[in-house]
Parts: sequence; C-alpha cells; structure tokens
Amino acid sequence: MTEVGHFIGGKHVASTSGRSQDIMQPMDGSVRGKVALGTVAELRQAVENAKAAQPAWAATNPQRRVRVLMKFLQLVERDYDELAELLAREHGKTIPDAKGDIQRGLEVVEVCIGAPHLMKGEFTDGAGPGIDVYSMRQPLGVVAGITPFNFPAMIPLWKIAPAIACGNAFILKPSERDPGVPMKIAELFLEAGLPAGILNVVNGDKEIVDAILDHPDIKAIGFVGSTPIAQYIYSRATANGKRAQCFGGAKNHMIIMPDADMDQTVDALIGAGYGSAGERCMAISVAVPVGKETADRLVEKLIPRVESLKVGPSTDPSADYGPLVTQQALDRVKGYVDAGVKEGAKLVVDGRGFKMQGYENGYYMGGCLFDEVTPDMSIYKEEIFGPVLSVVRAANYEEALKLPNEHEYGNGVAIFTRDGDAARDFASRVQVGMVGINVPIPVPIAYYTFGGWKGSGFGDLNQHGSDAFRFYTKTKTVTSRWPSGVKEGAEFVIPTMN
Ligand code: NAD
Repeated sequence: MTEVGHFIGGKHVASTSGRSQDIMQPMDGSVRGKVALGTVAELRQAVENAKAAQPAWAATNPQRRVRVLMKFLQLVERDYDELAELLAREHGKTIPDAKGDIQRGLEVVEVCIGAPHLMKGEFTDGAGPGIDVYSMRQPLGVVAGITPFNFPAMIPLWKIAPAIACGNAFILKPSERDPGVPMKIAELFLEAGLPAGILNVVNGDKEIVDAILDHPDIKAIGFVGSTPIAQYIYSRATANGKRAQCFGGAKNHMIIMPDADMDQTVDALIGAGYGSAGERCMAISVAVPVGKETADRLVEKLIPRVESLKVGPSTDPSADYGPLVTQQALDRVKGYVDAGVKEGAKLVVDGRGFKMQGYENGYYMGGCLFDEVTPDMSIYKEEIFGPVLSVVRAANYEEALKLPNEHEYGNGVAIFTRDGDAARDFASRVQVGMVGINVPIPVPIAYYTFGGWKGSGFGDLNQHGSDAFRFYTKTKTVTSRWPSGVKEGAEFVIPTMN
C-alpha cells in the first residue's frame, strides 16, 4: 500500500489533514494506496518553498536551466517501463498507451530545450535619435498547474517544462485519481539537478485548489479538466488578478465525405473513438457521414469492428483498451447509454454487459455504437468520456459542417475525404480549435500550440509551442537613451519618435 503525500522543497512531506482518498487499480478494482487531500497550510508551505527558490533559478542562465531538462529526458528514458506500468495501473489505460502518454509529454520537454532562443526579446536600434528600444521576457515567479486524470504524465509535463524553462517555480496539483506518475516526475527533476523548491507537487481536492486560486503569490494558473471546473477556475483565478488558461471538455466530430476511403476511415474511427476507453479529450465521439449511402456503408463496416474490440486489463499488451478510471465513471458512461436508448437513438452495438473474466471487479465496458443520433439528445450534447461512438447522419456537407459549428464544445474535429477543395473549405470555416484532415486525432505537434475553442477553452493563450513561452513570461519593454541627449537639458514636451 502506497501513501502519497506532497513533494515540497525537494522532499516527500506527509499531510497532516487527516483526509485522504483511495488510489484504485481500475483493472481489478483493488486499492493500491491512499493519496492525501492536503490543507491550505500545506499549500502555503509549498508556495513559501517555491518563492524562496525562484529568484536564484530565474538568475541561472537559460542554457544552464535547460540542461536540467536534457538530463530529465535521459532519466525518463531510463525509467520508462516502470513509469508506464505505474501509469497504466493507476489510470487503467494499456501499457503501450501509457508510453504514448509519457512520450507526448517528453516531446514538449524537448521543445522547451529551445528556451534560450524562445525567450529572446526584440531590439530596435535607433528607434529615435540616440534611442534604442528592446523587450525582454521575464518569468512570472511562482505559477501553478491543476491537471486531470486522463493524461497524468503528458499534461503535467506540458505545464512544468515551459514554466521552469522560463525561470518560474511551479506548483502542480495533479488529479487525486492517479498521483503516482506526477510524484515520480518531481523526483526525477530533482535527480536531474532542478533546485529543491522549483517543482512542488501538492495533492488534494477542492480545498487545495481553492487555496491555489486565492494565494496572492501564485501569478498564473494552467488548468485542464472538465468544462464546469475550467470555467470556475478561470473566473476565480482571473478575479484574483492571475493569468489563467483553462482547458475543458470536448465533443469531437469526424465528418466522413462520400468520397472518403471507407476502410481507412473505419480504422481511424475505431482507434480515435475507443482508444484509451474513449477517455481522451481528443477522442472522436461523433461520426458524421454525409449522405445516406455513406452512412449505411460506414455503419455496416463499423458494427463488426466495434463488436470485435479487444478489451483487456492494462497489463495486456494486446488489448485495444483497458478499464475506465473508476466505478463512478463506468456507471456514468452506462447511464448515458441508457439515456441514449430512452431518447430514441439506435444502439447497434451494446457493450454495457461486458465482463472481463478473472477481473470481475474491474471497471470494464465493451464498445457501444449508436446510429441515428440527433442533436437534441443528451448523448450528443454532453461529453460521455467512454467507449461510445454516436453516428449523426447528415444529408449534405453544409449540414455536416453546421454540427461542430453549433456545438457547445470546440476542441478537435476531423474530416475524411479525398477532395482537397472540401478539406480546405472545412479547415477554413469550422469553428473548432484543432482540425484534422484525414487525421482523426489532430493533437498538434509540440512546437505548435494546443487549445480548444468555445466551451473547450478559457483564456487567450494555448498550451505548449510559442504560446507557452508567452504565458509563462511577462514582457518588459525598455526605451533607452544614453547621456548625450540628456546633456541638452530637460524636455517638457512628451517624447515622440519623429
Ligand atoms: P475534473 O474537472 O474532474 O478534474 C480536473 C482537476 O480539477 C483535478 O485536479 C481535480 O482534482 C480538480 N477538481 C475537480 N473538481 C473540482 C472542484 N469542484 N473544484 C476545484 N477543483 C476541482 O476532470 P477529470 O475528470 O480529471 O478529467 C477529464 C476531463 O478533462 C474531461 O472533461 C476531458 O475532456 C478534460 N480534458 C481536457 C483536455 C483539454 O486539453 N481540453 C485534456 C484532457 C482532459
């Protein structure tokens, strides 16, 4: 049984709150350990450590700072298998998928090694007579991240790496459902040479989140999770004068044009809809075939593929996907499927009754496929976050385009077609932040930025890429003139550049 406390000032620190939550192993429903639900005082202690350590770290030249990131990459490589297994056991996803979770995080760390270049400011020589203007990017100080259960390596790393590369100290509040890997990440950064106090992990629930939101010394907050919480965090953080970028839930559509290669489309849909049991913010949960013939061909090919999905324990490398994260998540997803049936959608594959032999207490669910879903149904409007795909039939391209455009969420979207003109029109007109053309999960590569629109994202800067360096730094602009101009006497007219 593991007991997870906090990681503050380079050390494991036990919580004194007396409150904790079980860490489950979704593949068999057993209890792996307990995670502390920390207190306001413990958060304050983390901030004090971060505040004390940050000035020296900010004063360390940026190349030296990123050498720590380089070393960290080597250490993760060394411990890759151990980390992936821990992640899979706490989360439920398969070990190969857990490796992908870590890998997508490391790709952002790799880009952050370019921090010395990415932090460079601007310079104008001779902006006026004897006047030079330049700008510099300086760290904010102490910043914090609050992250979800579904990518316990990737999302913390998307925040930690750019924040510390820029010279900030970071406080991470990971999901209480799978805190193991975030704690290991903090240990590995310390081993890589990060000074104690620059990366702190506090565990807990709303109490500690609210303490983060209200702490005057925390200057910026990055959040990823469900939309209601994203909205709450954004409002409270900004009302307290902090920078905030908060990413929420999703309902990602895939438009299938009549000319799409149907075998390729079905392969893409199966992976994007059911991989990781559908617990990805970029999972495809709505398929929109254009025209009756396309829809009939699609559903006919999808049914046997959904029926033959291989569900298995997280440790089975041949499984397509593993269990859901908690019993509560499983009940919730099944509840949506029940609602869909009641609302009149056609459940053509029903995975609700699936039981995993030998793992009867695990949170497994077979793949579900709905046909004839309509936009008024709850299974269309709300995020299900499970292995459930809905087919919404569209009569033509304009009707298909209208669906993601009018949906509350706007995280990811894809179009499958052989027609460059349709693809180009779609990319231009769709009201969604990340678009795939014959690519089902268009998570941008690390040197581009990641962020959804509408109910999927609050704040004006995206995650990773160049935006991360803007989010984690403040710009200072210096206008300088050296003594010869001053010798001429005082100026009483506002300076201009003419
Ligand atoms: P969640 O919103 O339940 O939790 C996210 C974080 O917020 C956790 O650290 C949690 O402890 C904290 N939290 C939960 N309730 C809170 C409350 N009432 N007050 C303060 N803090 C609270 O999300 P989750 O279930 O962990 O993750 C799944 C959700 O995250 C899905 O909606 C998914 O789409 C979304 N997600 C979005 C992205 C993205 O980039 N847009 C990426 C991954 C996941």
